[in-house]
Amino acid sequence: MQSAKKDIQLFVNNCFEPSSSGQTFSSINPATEEEIAEISLADAGDVERAVLAARAAFDEGPWPRMRGSERAEYLLAMADAIEENQEILGLLECMDTGLPLATTRAGHVVRGVQNFRYFAAEIERIGGEAIPLDNAYLHVTSREPIGVVAIITPWNAPLGLATSSLAAALACGNTCVIKPSELSPITTSELAKIVEALELPPGVVNVVHGPGRPTGEALASHPGVDAISFTGSSPTGRRLMELASRDLKRFVGELGGNAPTIIFADADLEQALDATLLTAFANNGEACVAGSRLLVERSLYPTFVERFVERVQGIVVGDPLAERTEVGPVISAAHRSRLSGLITEACDLGAKLRCGGAPPGELATGFYLQPTVVADVPLHARLSREEVMGPVVGISSFEDEADAVRRANDTIFGLAAYVWSGNSNRALGVAQQLRTGTVWVNASITRDIRVPFGGFKQSGVGRIGGRFSIDAFTEVKNTCIAVRPYPLRRFGAREPRKPPHV
Ligand code: ADP
Repeated sequence: MQSAKKDIQLFVNNCFEPSSSGQTFSSINPATEEEIAEISLADAGDVERAVLAARAAFDEGPWPRMRGSERAEYLLAMADAIEENQEILGLLECMDTGLPLATTRAGHVVRGVQNFRYFAAEIERIGGEAIPLDNAYLHVTSREPIGVVAIITPWNAPLGLATSSLAAALACGNTCVIKPSELSPITTSELAKIVEALELPPGVVNVVHGPGRPTGEALASHPGVDAISFTGSSPTGRRLMELASRDLKRFVGELGGNAPTIIFADADLEQALDATLLTAFANNGEACVAGSRLLVERSLYPTFVERFVERVQGIVVGDPLAERTEVGPVISAAHRSRLSGLITEACDLGAKLRCGGAPPGELATGFYLQPTVVADVPLHARLSREEVMGPVVGISSFEDEADAVRRANDTIFGLAAYVWSGNSNRALGVAQQLRTGTVWVNASITRDIRVPFGGFKQSGVGRIGGRFSIDAFTEVKNTCIAVRPYPLRRFGAREPRKPPHV
């Protein structure tokens, strides 16, 4: 099961097919550095075929026209099929990303199931409002699908993120072309197999593979695409908005972050430690909401750093397939070099490496990096300013509430933040001043499907989650109905109209 190299093709109109050029690329298992899949690379022509398939399925096919309850049946079947394949999907995602198996299997795959179940139910709740006007008109608002949605996803949670956009977009009656990250394409291709097996109407879900250039750009700039749902870095989000602007496509983007965690001296230290470690190192630290920037009140700082480092040194790093592994390898050699660069630059600027900072000696193969803590990180270090996306944490101290808020907000990002204080008035007061889409107060990452998720500032555009996803994947139509005859200005007539009209 783990040995055979997979052959992954494009998925268009419910058929798997190679790219027209025959060009392929590889996916590497970050833990073994072995090539585990050979994938067809879609060029602009292949992307065009996929977009036209989705276009035809939207413009002429049954998907947007069928009863919502019928679409819900398909979505529930998708959920069941993902659930039945939980083991293999968890395993493949683990091998493709280096994320611990426990995380992929019990976290991301289960999230995929929940996404389809939730949005199947949400179909019944899609509605509008009626706005009466002057006793003569009734305005009725309704939600309609946008059309063809391009879904572009990153490597840090491929299945969870693809299904979160896909399930919502499909629920609303859109058709989709997904482009997963070229670094982790396998489970999205497995999703295509499920679509094929369940016989969704052809063209409703299509999958193309390849890097940002040429594949992603061809998709994002194709005039047949009506909306882009993107999860990934802020620079790529910026580029995609440029491409989307050419024909004013809808754009929803969940982008980068460097989430601050503010810890006051009066916080419940044990709880704050547990939660802070979890938010920093869960998912290998490769999460947009990872708490990679700790701000600790000066009086607590020495104790906190010592306790935190002690715990980080105890984190089990190793084979992501092993059940007890807490942190696996990062996604690629290039990403590990980038993380090393962030650590080195912070130390050059006066920060102190407290633990980690290098690959673990006993793991020569695989893109491993010891969980790393850098203390006294200045605000202008890249570690404080850029998205980290790995098992690396920078810590610095703050003086008082105002200083904490200033430091936390001193970033182009605004995705998430965490506040820890035993004084709930203070915690809530600080939370109110933080310019982020989500603030967790004395809490670690929990993300219910119903809650809005997205970023302030350069961390995102729009919101997804629950009914916010319905907003993201629908157009609002207003239909104006005359409920009785009513007077009109009579162009060209000299006399007013006689009753019975009012
Ligand atoms: P990361 O650096 O974390 O991989 P990216 O934002 O570069 O994040 O990638 C997220 C997704 O965006 C991937 O599927 C990637 O292929 C895609 N992508 C990257 N650059 C572009 C681009 N110029 N146009 C379209 N898609 C892109």
